[in-house]
Amino acid sequence: MSSDGVKHYTDAAKRAMDWHSEKKREIKKQRFDTIAVHGVYSMQEALDFNQGSIIEPIYMSTSQSYRDSDEMEAALSYQIPTWCYSRIANPSMYYLEGTIALLEGYGTDVETSCIATASGMAAIQSAVDQFLTLDKNDPDKPMNFVATTQVYGGTFQQFAVRKEEEKGIEWRKVTRSNDLDDWASRIDENTRFVYGELPSNPGLAFFNLKAVIDLAHSRGVPVIIDATVATPALIRPIALGADIVIQSVSKTMTSSGFGIAGAVISRKNIDSKYLPQEAKDDFCTYLKLLPNRDNGPTISPMNAILTLNDLRTIRSKVDIMSQTSMKVATFLENHKNIERVEYLGLKSHPLHKLASEYMYLVDSEHDDQYGKPVNRYGHLLSFCVKGGHQNTRDVFDAFQMIWRATDLGRIKSVATIPAISTHSQQGEEGRKAANIPDNLIRLSIGAEHADDIIEDLNRALSVLDGKKVYTTAPEYSAGGSSSALLRKKR
Ligand SMILES: *Cc1c(COP(=O)(O)O)cnc(C)c1O
Repeated sequence: MSSDGVKHYTDAAKRAMDWHSEKKREIKKQRFDTIAVHGVYSMQEALDFNQGSIIEPIYMSTSQSYRDSDEMEAALSYQIPTWCYSRIANPSMYYLEGTIALLEGYGTDVETSCIATASGMAAIQSAVDQFLTLDKNDPDKPMNFVATTQVYGGTFQQFAVRKEEEKGIEWRKVTRSNDLDDWASRIDENTRFVYGELPSNPGLAFFNLKAVIDLAHSRGVPVIIDATVATPALIRPIALGADIVIQSVSKTMTSSGFGIAGAVISRKNIDSKYLPQEAKDDFCTYLKLLPNRDNGPTISPMNAILTLNDLRTIRSKVDIMSQTSMKVATFLENHKNIERVEYLGLKSHPLHKLASEYMYLVDSEHDDQYGKPVNRYGHLLSFCVKGGHQNTRDVFDAFQMIWRATDLGRIKSVATIPAISTHSQQGEEGRKAANIPDNLIRLSIGAEHADDIIEDLNRALSVLDGKKVYTTAPEYSAGGSSSALLRKKR
């Protein structure tokens, strides 16, 4: 069916792709902050396609129009760079995906690609489902995956309910992620992938990433790491050999809190018995062009650019939030109403030494302020309040600046009680496995001044000493809260 006209377009595409590859090699030589600020959006891109706009435009369009049938044919058969339809791709998504891919691949020669999704959970599902496909020669063959139990609550549900309970895919649970034997003894010839979260939310579990990657690879099993809490400003698992990285972009990457988003990032050439060749060659591009085209968990162009805008300052934000977290953790550790504090930056944390081998502020050695590699431990900490669950609620309810919300990575400090929120579905047993007692408060430190965060915590903790604390008045706006109040009254 194809005509010479198609060749006209594929030749032009080849020239464009060569130019882009060269450009990408140049970008890869830049420092982390420069990549975060400019990403893949070049002056040429701005001048040739976007009327010189210095900020990446939001392409609020469902689809792309073609010059003629030849271009359409070349595009729809993926012979030329195209975005077709915004369920598959869109220029705004491309600017975000290109940037995240480069940030996760920073500091290595490894080539990375990225696909952005509508949420972190969609990123996890998109990634893991590619490994959970029937073996054509033996459709009854059992399947399993090996994953830590200390994972985000939504991930726990997706694995326990959607995969294991509903589809009969065995989740082999690693409960002692610091014991390499716990991983090794669970991997067999039916293991499709190994999965870990690092550091985990909210338990801050940390394992020897390099050792787990080497172990899995020695058995021919690929490794997927959810590095949401660390962000590429602190840990880049692909540089250490991981095959696929998950980011809940909703969190620190979109610190302003404008929307939900996720991303899968992969290296080229993944070794797995269970992936089709195109997926092994370039997992995220395969995911984008085929499975996610058919399943449709794509990010919206609006959220893509809102996220991109937040991402530009990720390194300095993570640095500030980490330093403030260290101050807050030290304050809490010395407070009489606190049972224990979990923060990887505290010397008292049993995993402090291990985390210190991995968690470095990217480029600190190239920074005039530091001039050497410096450890940073992120913005997430948790603490247990003395006296049990009710005391914990009392302290929590007395926060006046720290928001009570199931969120993290925000520019504003946010706290939650996981046992009654993010981790309520998995039951007491599940929480025990994930090390989440009911007197634990998870605190995500924002970019406020440390003094003010400490002041709010100090005031809230003083309720346990019988001091009266001003609480916010029970007035409701005309928004959602009032209807809840009415329901309660009836
Ligand atoms: C929030 C979170 C997710 C899920 O991401 P959403 O964007 O909320 O779907 C996955 N992993 C971790 C570690 C998270 O904190």
